[in-house]
Amino acid sequence: MEKRLLLTPGPTMVPPEVAAAEAQPIIHHRAPEFDPIFMRVQEGLQYVFQTKNPVVILASSGTGAMECALTGVCSPGDKVICIEGGKFGERWGEIAKAFGMNPIREAVEWGTSVQPDRIKELLEENPDAKAVCITHCETSTGVLTDVKAIADVVSKTDALLLVDAVSSLGAEELRMDEWKVDMVVTGSQKALMLPPGLAFVALSQRAIERSQKATCASYYFSLKKYLKNLEKKTTPYTPAISLILALEKSLEMIKKEGLENIWARHAKLSSAIQAGVQALGLKIYSQVASHVVTPIWVPEGIEGKAIPKKLRDKYGVTIAGGQAQLEGKIIRIATLGYATLFDATTGICALEIVLKELGYKFEEGAGIRAALKVFMEK
Ligand code: PMP
Repeated sequence: MEKRLLLTPGPTMVPPEVAAAEAQPIIHHRAPEFDPIFMRVQEGLQYVFQTKNPVVILASSGTGAMECALTGVCSPGDKVICIEGGKFGERWGEIAKAFGMNPIREAVEWGTSVQPDRIKELLEENPDAKAVCITHCETSTGVLTDVKAIADVVSKTDALLLVDAVSSLGAEELRMDEWKVDMVVTGSQKALMLPPGLAFVALSQRAIERSQKATCASYYFSLKKYLKNLEKKTTPYTPAISLILALEKSLEMIKKEGLENIWARHAKLSSAIQAGVQALGLKIYSQVASHVVTPIWVPEGIEGKAIPKKLRDKYGVTIAGGQAQLEGKIIRIATLGYATLFDATTGICALEIVLKELGYKFEEGAGIRAALKVFMEK
């Protein structure tokens, strides 16, 4: 028998009640019955983003929201500071380049995060920069960036702060309005507990104003068009109706549990994973570990790619391997979105079994005991 467990930093597991909501008969998005659903979804999104402004909903993956956000507030030739400490940070620079902007690509050592003082220096060196693009949780390295401190620096300048929170929104604390963040983008397939296919762009008043002057080429992802349609409580094109029905349900679940409790749950689950793997003698890769995903060095003498492969093929447990320069060198375990203590402990349990099969020497049961201890402690 096969029972699958997804411990990846997206896509993540979908609660049965969300899947059931998605399976409802299709309703028409221009019919009156869709209006209250769209309104409830807007309200729920504002809660998750911690903003009073409307949130744009796109039928795309998270990258579409990154493109929509950046092209929506910038023009060709604009200087854009892009912080690149991993695969996803690099994407901001690539988008800026593709649309004829002038990206200032700041490389940050993988496994570490950019410091707010460095952002301050970059803005002093580039006073004409129109935007600063950062990644909240750099999913490829597991590193968390201090958005609050960076927003404090950027909000005092004319540059807008764009935050890729594709893997972190709803898992890590992020208070958009209070922290003065201009744009936050995310995707549906992470902490929002939905299948892939929806992406979101939230904007500050400053960003909304800037969007009216931006002249980057775009058509389907024209931010201006989405904002104009939001005034009429709709989207310019056919929305992914079934996913929006599912979103209504997941937002209801998020509201019921409470954001602070959800952030705390993610913190606890990732602590359990960290404690578990460290008790097995494994080392954490990143210096500033997020609660989204735990990156772990593959122990010496073990074939890196064999761990996720065996876990998935033999035991039905999917974790992530390393990307780009980290391929085969790290594994990444996530307890993101619809995850509980039993998912975390099952993950450690399966890891122990596979590590033993691969010939790694450790004290059997030490990982699972350490992980459980995190939950047993007051
Ligand atoms: N940014 C981050 C931080 C991500 O984790 C991901 C997805 N792994 C993306 C961007 C890209 O999102 P998508 O694959 O949904 O386009």
